[in-house]
Amino acid sequence: MYFWHEEEFDRWRASRQAQHHALLIIGPAGIGKSAFARAWAAALLCENIGAAGRACGACAACVWFAQGNHPDFRALIPDADDPHFEPAGKGAKPSRDIRIDQIRGLAGFVAVGGHRAGHKVILVEPADALNAAAANALLKTLEEPTGNTRFLLVSARPDWLAATIRSRCAVIALRAPPPEEAARWLAAESGVTPAQALHWLAAAGGAPLRARELAEPAQGATHRLVLETVAALPQASAVNAAERLVSVEPARWVAILQTWVGDLGRVRSGGEPRFHPEQRARLQALAGKTDLRRISELEVRMRRLTRHAEHPLNPRLLCEDALLGYCAAFDGPAPRGRSAGPGSGGEPAQRRVT
Ligand SMILES: [Zn+2]
Repeated sequence: MYFWHEEEFDRWRASRQAQHHALLIIGPAGIGKSAFARAWAAALLCENIGAAGRACGACAACVWFAQGNHPDFRALIPDADDPHFEPAGKGAKPSRDIRIDQIRGLAGFVAVGGHRAGHKVILVEPADALNAAAANALLKTLEEPTGNTRFLLVSARPDWLAATIRSRCAVIALRAPPPEEAARWLAAESGVTPAQALHWLAAAGGAPLRARELAEPAQGATHRLVLETVAALPQASAVNAAERLVSVEPARWVAILQTWVGDLGRVRSGGEPRFHPEQRARLQALAGKTDLRRISELEVRMRRLTRHAEHPLNPRLLCEDALLGYCAAFDGPAPRGRSAGPGSGGEPAQRRVT
């Protein structure tokens, strides 16, 4: 686990919630929830646990866990997140969902006693990837916990989880470390200057692991491409902009567009940009061409878009539509009853806005 969560880990381990059979670990993406959950799983499985409540790292159970083959541990993750996934046929795309057959596959594991004397641990990550059928199937197991089975659910988007699942878990909410601490870590970790570290941390909304990704040259370049493309709107054509972004994974540009719109709202209300402080002047100029009502409408659109971006039928149309909708927010007085731009039916008008 990352050092910034160690204190919290110890506190939670000593708390009453630690005895709960299902824990839901939440917090922003890229702060180290996964490492926290795995450290927790290791502590549940460790056969030589110390007074501090952390795994010893040396017993047989700890060694198996570290090697990924502890018999009393299961991780349910989407195929798309599994580095060992092998597609069934040519061109078969790995699923981004956690599917019902993965939950059904747990039946034997849950029913029989553990191989070792301790707990059996099931990690579900990200829990918001459970599709409806899988969530229902999991609910049954959560409702009738068997003996020593423990569930660890991890999610950066707990509002996407079924309320029935959420309500059966004890919640551990994790936070990002303070910016100075995170910047020091990032500079040491990625070999960037302190100023660059602060830049990427801001772009990542303070999430150190996300910032570390951005500090990698390829990811950083993608981030700059998206940001420059978005910042050039609405003067530039939304259709051309969508063309530039077609090679970028939808979830990525959606996330950046979302931070941009968020900053626009902050600047429009007289605040400072949180994600893109170096773009302050551009944001201010743009904010003058719109109003808070239209910005908050955009924010709603962006939140909806986040979900569509996971499974876009047509990534290019999704992008065009999003960018046209974005440009419409600056269209002088807001066009009545048509804040969404042209639908997805073509009509790729070059809507230049002055
Ligand atoms: Zn151990």
